[in-house]
Amino acid sequence: MRTPVTIIGAGLGGLTLARVLHVHGIEAVVYEAEASPMARMQGGMLDIHDYNGRLAVEAAGLMTEFRGLILEGRQAMRVLDASGKLVFEKADDGSGGRPEVQRGDLRRMLLDSLPPGTVHWGHKVAGVRPGNEVVFADGTSVEAAVLVGADGAWSRVRPLLTAETPEYAGTSFVETYLFDADTRHAAVAKAVGGGSMFVAGPTPGQGINAHRESGDTLHAYVELERPLEWFDAIDFGDPAAAAARIAAEFEGWAPELTALLTDADSGPVLRPHHTLPAGVRWERVPGVTLVGDAAHLTAPNGEGANLAMLDGAELGQALAAYPVEEALAGYEEAMFTRSANPVDESVLIESVFGGEIPEQLQQLFDELKPGS
Ligand SMILES: Cc1cc2nc3c(=O)[nH]c(=O)nc-3n(C[C@H](O)[C@H](O)[C@H](O)COP(=O)(O)OP(=O)(O)OC[C@H]3O[C@@H](n4cnc5c(N)ncnc54)[C@H](O)[C@@H]3O)c2cc1C
Repeated sequence: MRTPVTIIGAGLGGLTLARVLHVHGIEAVVYEAEASPMARMQGGMLDIHDYNGRLAVEAAGLMTEFRGLILEGRQAMRVLDASGKLVFEKADDGSGGRPEVQRGDLRRMLLDSLPPGTVHWGHKVAGVRPGNEVVFADGTSVEAAVLVGADGAWSRVRPLLTAETPEYAGTSFVETYLFDADTRHAAVAKAVGGGSMFVAGPTPGQGINAHRESGDTLHAYVELERPLEWFDAIDFGDPAAAAARIAAEFEGWAPELTALLTDADSGPVLRPHHTLPAGVRWERVPGVTLVGDAAHLTAPNGEGANLAMLDGAELGQALAAYPVEEALAGYEEAMFTRSANPVDESVLIESVFGGEIPEQLQQLFDELKPGS
């Protein structure tokens, strides 16, 4: 029998690993801090990329289930300028390499693919001791033969491997939702269109992105480059005042864009971006490793969930194919290389546009370049 694997964190990385291990007949136990699968809203849509996330779904043997989750039409894209003028538009003709799914549906798909009882909910890890001893918040502990930290940005397993901790990246998202948008927020719904909308304003680090989730829910990420202290001075406990304060930074922008803040049906939620140093790596420590954000947290760039799943899949495949230490070393080397090198631009452009970058967009990017 192969050595069982103890995974901390039932996010997309940890669950993909557990699933791929299961496919190969290796037992996995997942300890998750949240009390149940429904404890927290798993908001947001994720585009699953043909060059990483999709490979993980294939390794998990879940392509049929995955196809059933894809939200049709959501690969449509609109790029506007701050005045609301359409700069570029692309319909979803079904040929794109980045199908969109709800994060919650993806997590549910993975959970449903595991033997019952694999995930131990309500098990918050307080810390780890050398020798791969995992100590829970209630004082109990377990020893893991193979320990994998899939516990995200603020990983409690990471200290076994590296002293690096995440730092504020200088930008934050302010997140909002608009419900029944086609009827209640028609102008905003028209601006966003059937898929994603991107607006890059004249100031670097400042933009408004939104997408249409299932039904006619709009989900916006408003990006601002400000110190954390600047956000601290805003009372997010007073949603209307906070939305107005953030919207004031977008003075002169089209009202159907700032309405994503001022007309939102949910209070604005601050999501500061933290990162680990690019290219972080560590010396091999017997029997322990990390996947996903725990290993290589970056500011949101559309790749994080995809990479967490790919890490999980590759680690699972390695543990199925090689003795433990050989598997961990091989997995880490590939993961370190991947994390240190951003996705090749041509791969990205091919995946998004199915060819070359459209001329109108290239022109917009050139105009937005500092100094132009
Ligand atoms: C606003 C925003 C938008 C994003 N949009 C995208 C996108 O469009 N596409 C994309 O690919 N990526 C996106 N990302 C990045 C993506 O969300 C992450 O990279 C991805 O979720 C990482 O997966 P993970 O499994 O490593 O960690 P997580 O998803 O963070 O999962 C970690 C799990 O571990 C659990 N946990 C944490 N601490 C403990 C503990 N002490 N004990 C036990 N359990 C614990 C958590 O509860 C959680 O279930 C976005 C991120 C943000 C913040």
